[in-house]
Amino acid sequence: MLNNFYILNLFKRVNEKKKIIIAIDGYSSTGKSTFAKEIAKMLGYTYIDSGAMYRAATLYCLENNLIAGDKIKTDELINDLDNIDISFQYNSGSHLFETLLNGKNVEEKIRTVYVSNYVSPVSKIKELREKMVAIQRNMGKDKGIVMDGRDIGTVVFPQADLKIFMTASAHIRAQRRYDELIEKGMDVSFKEIENNILERDRIDSGREISPLKKADDAIALDNSNISIEEQMKWLMNIIEEKLTK
Ligand code: C5P
Repeated sequence: MLNNFYILNLFKRVNEKKKIIIAIDGYSSTGKSTFAKEIAKMLGYTYIDSGAMYRAATLYCLENNLIAGDKIKTDELINDLDNIDISFQYNSGSHLFETLLNGKNVEEKIRTVYVSNYVSPVSKIKELREKMVAIQRNMGKDKGIVMDGRDIGTVVFPQADLKIFMTASAHIRAQRRYDELIEKGMDVSFKEIENNILERDRIDSGREISPLKKADDAIALDNSNISIEEQMKWLMNIIEEKLTK
Protein backbone atom coordinates (compact mmCIF):
# COMPACT_ATOMS: atom_id res chain seq x y z
CA MET A 1 0.00 0.00 0.00
CA LEU A 2 1.20 3.52 -0.74
CA ASN A 3 1.91 5.64 2.25
CA ASN A 4 -0.97 8.08 2.91
CA PHE A 5 1.30 10.81 4.17
CA TYR A 6 3.40 10.55 1.05
CA ILE A 7 0.30 10.79 -1.18
CA LEU A 8 -1.11 13.79 0.71
CA ASN A 9 2.22 15.52 0.52
CA LEU A 10 2.56 14.90 -3.19
CA PHE A 11 -1.02 16.06 -3.73
CA LYS A 12 -0.34 19.29 -1.83
CA ARG A 13 2.78 19.98 -3.83
CA VAL A 14 1.09 19.31 -7.17
CA ASN A 15 -1.76 21.65 -6.31
CA GLU A 16 0.50 24.33 -4.86
CA LYS A 17 2.46 24.37 -8.04
CA LYS A 18 -0.40 24.41 -10.55
CA LYS A 19 -3.33 22.30 -11.60
CA ILE A 20 -2.47 20.13 -14.55
CA ILE A 21 -4.22 18.15 -17.28
CA ILE A 22 -3.44 14.44 -17.45
CA ALA A 23 -4.32 12.65 -20.69
CA ILE A 24 -4.49 8.85 -20.72
CA ASP A 25 -4.97 7.14 -24.06
CA GLY A 26 -4.61 3.57 -25.17
CA TYR A 27 -6.14 0.41 -26.50
CA SER A 28 -9.46 -1.00 -25.29
CA SER A 29 -9.46 -2.59 -21.85
CA THR A 30 -5.92 -1.66 -20.92
CA GLY A 31 -7.18 -0.52 -17.53
CA LYS A 32 -7.12 3.16 -18.46
CA SER A 33 -10.16 4.02 -16.40
CA THR A 34 -8.97 2.16 -13.26
CA PHE A 35 -5.64 3.94 -13.49
CA ALA A 36 -7.19 7.34 -14.29
CA LYS A 37 -9.66 7.06 -11.39
CA GLU A 38 -6.84 6.28 -8.95
CA ILE A 39 -4.79 9.22 -10.17
CA ALA A 40 -7.77 11.58 -9.92
CA LYS A 41 -8.52 10.33 -6.42
CA MET A 42 -4.93 10.82 -5.35
CA LEU A 43 -4.73 14.37 -6.71
CA GLY A 44 -8.28 15.45 -5.89
CA TYR A 45 -8.90 15.94 -9.60
CA THR A 46 -11.96 15.32 -11.75
CA TYR A 47 -11.92 12.09 -13.75
CA ILE A 48 -13.69 12.08 -17.10
CA ASP A 49 -14.24 8.93 -19.12
CA SER A 50 -14.47 10.19 -22.70
CA GLY A 51 -15.33 6.69 -23.95
CA ALA A 52 -18.55 6.94 -21.94
CA MET A 53 -19.57 9.90 -24.11
CA TYR A 54 -19.12 7.92 -27.33
CA ARG A 55 -20.94 5.02 -25.72
CA ALA A 56 -23.85 7.29 -24.74
CA ALA A 57 -24.04 8.67 -28.30
CA THR A 58 -24.11 5.08 -29.57
CA LEU A 59 -26.90 4.21 -27.17
CA TYR A 60 -28.82 7.19 -28.52
CA CYS A 61 -28.39 5.82 -32.07
CA LEU A 62 -29.56 2.37 -31.01
CA GLU A 63 -32.60 3.72 -29.17
CA ASN A 64 -33.58 6.10 -31.96
CA ASN A 65 -33.40 3.84 -34.91
CA LEU A 66 -30.24 5.43 -36.31
CA ILE A 67 -28.59 2.05 -36.83
CA ALA A 68 -30.08 -0.43 -39.28
CA GLY A 69 -28.35 -3.80 -39.30
CA ASP A 70 -24.69 -2.87 -39.47
CA LYS A 71 -25.30 0.48 -41.10
CA ILE A 72 -25.25 3.77 -39.25
CA LYS A 73 -27.59 6.39 -40.68
CA THR A 74 -24.85 8.99 -40.66
CA ASP A 75 -26.79 11.89 -42.22
CA GLU A 76 -29.71 11.39 -39.88
CA LEU A 77 -27.37 11.21 -36.90
CA ILE A 78 -25.67 14.44 -37.95
CA ASN A 79 -29.06 16.14 -38.25
CA ASP A 80 -29.99 14.85 -34.81
CA LEU A 81 -26.79 15.92 -33.02
CA ASP A 82 -28.49 18.87 -31.30
CA ASN A 83 -30.87 16.42 -29.64
CA ILE A 84 -28.06 14.47 -28.03
CA ASP A 85 -27.16 15.95 -24.69
CA ILE A 86 -24.39 14.17 -22.84
CA SER A 87 -23.32 15.25 -19.38
CA PHE A 88 -21.95 13.83 -16.15
CA GLN A 89 -23.43 13.74 -12.68
CA TYR A 90 -21.39 13.34 -9.54
CA ASN A 91 -22.31 10.35 -7.43
CA SER A 92 -21.36 11.20 -3.86
CA GLY A 93 -21.50 7.51 -2.88
CA SER A 94 -18.99 6.24 -5.42
CA HIS A 95 -17.24 9.64 -5.75
CA LEU A 96 -17.43 9.19 -9.49
CA PHE A 97 -19.12 10.97 -12.34
CA GLU A 98 -21.91 9.00 -14.00
CA THR A 99 -23.01 9.48 -17.59
CA LEU A 100 -26.31 11.14 -18.41
CA LEU A 101 -27.93 10.96 -21.84
CA ASN A 102 -30.58 13.64 -22.20
CA GLY A 103 -30.81 13.84 -18.43
CA LYS A 104 -31.15 10.07 -17.89
CA ASN A 105 -28.50 8.07 -16.07
CA VAL A 106 -27.24 5.52 -18.61
CA GLU A 107 -24.08 4.43 -16.78
CA GLU A 108 -25.06 0.75 -16.80
CA LYS A 109 -26.64 0.57 -20.23
CA ILE A 110 -23.61 1.99 -22.02
CA ARG A 111 -21.35 -0.80 -20.69
CA THR A 112 -23.23 -3.63 -22.39
CA VAL A 113 -21.70 -5.70 -25.19
CA TYR A 114 -24.57 -4.48 -27.40
CA VAL A 115 -23.28 -0.90 -27.17
CA SER A 116 -19.62 -2.03 -27.38
CA ASN A 117 -20.37 -3.71 -30.70
CA TYR A 118 -21.45 -0.45 -32.34
CA VAL A 119 -19.42 2.20 -30.56
CA SER A 120 -16.33 2.19 -32.78
CA PRO A 121 -18.22 2.64 -36.08
CA VAL A 122 -20.28 5.46 -34.51
CA SER A 123 -17.10 7.08 -33.17
CA LYS A 124 -15.73 7.46 -36.69
CA ILE A 125 -18.23 10.21 -37.51
CA LYS A 126 -16.47 13.55 -37.78
CA GLU A 127 -19.37 15.79 -36.71
CA LEU A 128 -20.05 13.68 -33.64
CA ARG A 129 -16.38 13.82 -32.67
CA GLU A 130 -16.32 17.59 -33.05
CA LYS A 131 -19.24 17.88 -30.66
CA MET A 132 -17.61 15.55 -28.10
CA VAL A 133 -14.24 17.29 -28.30
CA ALA A 134 -15.87 20.69 -27.66
CA ILE A 135 -17.57 19.33 -24.52
CA GLN A 136 -14.35 17.67 -23.37
CA ARG A 137 -12.27 20.82 -23.83
CA ASN A 138 -14.82 22.80 -21.89
CA MET A 139 -14.59 20.31 -19.01
CA GLY A 140 -10.81 20.78 -18.95
CA LYS A 141 -10.76 24.55 -19.10
CA ASP A 142 -9.91 24.93 -15.40
CA LYS A 143 -7.42 22.06 -15.52
CA GLY A 144 -7.28 19.68 -12.55
CA ILE A 145 -8.61 16.91 -14.74
CA VAL A 146 -7.68 13.36 -15.71
CA MET A 147 -9.33 12.27 -18.94
CA ASP A 148 -8.98 8.92 -20.65
CA GLY A 149 -9.82 7.88 -24.20
CA ARG A 150 -8.23 7.47 -27.60
CA ASP A 151 -7.44 11.01 -28.77
CA ILE A 152 -7.04 12.95 -25.55
CA GLY A 153 -3.30 13.58 -25.83
CA THR A 154 -3.32 13.98 -29.60
CA VAL A 155 -6.49 16.02 -30.30
CA VAL A 156 -8.48 17.04 -27.22
CA PHE A 157 -5.62 18.33 -25.07
CA PRO A 158 -2.45 18.37 -27.17
CA GLN A 159 -1.09 20.79 -24.53
CA ALA A 160 -1.71 18.30 -21.66
CA ASP A 161 0.98 18.44 -19.00
CA LEU A 162 1.26 14.67 -18.73
CA LYS A 163 0.33 12.12 -21.37
CA ILE A 164 0.32 8.38 -20.87
CA PHE A 165 -0.28 5.81 -23.59
CA MET A 166 -1.36 2.41 -22.32
CA THR A 167 -0.96 -0.97 -23.94
CA ALA A 168 -1.28 -4.60 -22.81
CA SER A 169 -1.48 -7.92 -24.60
CA ALA A 170 -4.83 -8.58 -26.31
CA HIS A 171 -5.37 -11.81 -24.38
CA ILE A 172 -4.85 -10.14 -21.01
CA ARG A 173 -7.12 -7.26 -21.96
CA ALA A 174 -9.88 -9.63 -23.06
CA GLN A 175 -9.54 -11.60 -19.82
CA ARG A 176 -9.83 -8.43 -17.74
CA ARG A 177 -12.93 -7.24 -19.60
CA TYR A 178 -14.49 -10.70 -19.47
CA ASP A 179 -13.94 -10.96 -15.69
CA GLU A 180 -15.37 -7.48 -15.20
CA LEU A 181 -18.56 -8.24 -17.14
CA ILE A 182 -19.03 -11.65 -15.53
CA GLU A 183 -18.68 -10.01 -12.14
CA LYS A 184 -21.45 -7.60 -13.13
CA GLY A 185 -23.62 -10.64 -13.88
CA MET A 186 -23.59 -10.26 -17.66
CA ASP A 187 -23.94 -13.32 -19.85
CA VAL A 188 -20.97 -13.11 -22.23
CA SER A 189 -18.43 -15.46 -23.80
CA PHE A 190 -14.68 -14.92 -23.70
CA LYS A 191 -14.45 -15.22 -27.48
CA GLU A 192 -17.03 -12.51 -28.17
CA ILE A 193 -15.24 -10.15 -25.77
CA GLU A 194 -11.85 -10.86 -27.35
CA ASN A 195 -13.27 -10.34 -30.85
CA ASN A 196 -14.90 -7.07 -29.84
CA ILE A 197 -11.66 -5.76 -28.35
CA LEU A 198 -9.64 -6.66 -31.44
CA GLU A 199 -12.25 -5.21 -33.77
CA ARG A 200 -12.45 -1.95 -31.81
CA ASP A 201 -8.63 -1.67 -31.83
CA ARG A 202 -8.68 -2.16 -35.59
CA ILE A 203 -11.37 0.46 -36.25
CA ASP A 204 -10.07 2.96 -33.65
CA SER A 205 -6.48 2.79 -34.95
CA GLY A 206 -7.41 2.78 -38.63
CA ARG A 207 -10.00 5.57 -38.77
CA GLU A 208 -9.27 8.74 -40.70
CA ILE A 209 -10.28 11.24 -38.02
CA SER A 210 -8.46 11.27 -34.68
CA PRO A 211 -7.15 7.71 -34.88
CA LEU A 212 -5.89 6.01 -31.76
CA LYS A 213 -2.14 6.61 -31.67
CA LYS A 214 0.52 7.53 -29.20
CA ALA A 215 1.24 11.26 -29.03
CA ASP A 216 4.94 11.91 -29.66
CA ASP A 217 5.34 13.28 -26.15
CA ALA A 218 3.30 10.55 -24.39
CA ILE A 219 4.97 8.10 -22.04
CA ALA A 220 4.20 4.47 -22.95
CA LEU A 221 3.04 2.08 -20.26
CA ASP A 222 2.60 -1.64 -20.97
CA ASN A 223 0.71 -2.96 -17.97
CA SER A 224 0.34 -6.58 -19.13
CA ASN A 225 2.17 -7.83 -16.08
CA ILE A 226 2.01 -5.09 -13.51
CA SER A 227 -0.50 -4.32 -10.81
CA ILE A 228 -2.37 -1.05 -10.28
CA GLU A 229 -0.18 -0.43 -7.21
CA GLU A 230 2.96 -0.74 -9.30
CA GLN A 231 1.46 1.58 -11.91
CA MET A 232 0.75 4.18 -9.23
CA LYS A 233 4.34 4.00 -7.98
CA TRP A 234 5.58 4.37 -11.53
CA LEU A 235 3.36 7.40 -12.00
CA MET A 236 4.41 9.06 -8.76
CA ASN A 237 8.02 8.93 -9.84
CA ILE A 238 7.03 10.68 -13.03
CA ILE A 239 5.03 13.36 -11.21
CA GLU A 240 7.96 13.85 -8.79
CA GLU A 241 10.27 14.29 -11.73
CA LYS A 242 7.93 16.87 -13.25
CA LEU A 243 7.69 18.73 -9.95
CA THR A 244 11.42 18.97 -9.52
CA LYS A 245 12.07 20.20 -13.06
O1 C5P B 1 -12.91 3.75 -23.49
P1 C5P B 1 -13.97 2.81 -24.03
O2 C5P B 1 -13.45 1.47 -24.38
O3 C5P B 1 -15.20 2.78 -23.22
O4 C5P B 1 -14.38 3.53 -25.42
C1 C5P B 1 -15.38 2.99 -26.25
C2 C5P B 1 -15.11 3.40 -27.67
O5 C5P B 1 -15.33 4.80 -27.82
C3 C5P B 1 -13.72 3.16 -28.21
O6 C5P B 1 -13.53 1.83 -28.69
C4 C5P B 1 -13.64 4.18 -29.35
O7 C5P B 1 -14.27 3.70 -30.52
C5 C5P B 1 -14.49 5.33 -28.82
N1 C5P B 1 -13.68 6.41 -28.26
C6 C5P B 1 -13.13 7.33 -29.12
N2 C5P B 1 -12.45 8.40 -28.63
C7 C5P B 1 -12.30 8.56 -27.32
C8 C5P B 1 -12.83 7.62 -26.42
C9 C5P B 1 -13.50 6.53 -26.91
O8 C5P B 1 -13.26 7.20 -30.33
N3 C5P B 1 -11.66 9.63 -26.86
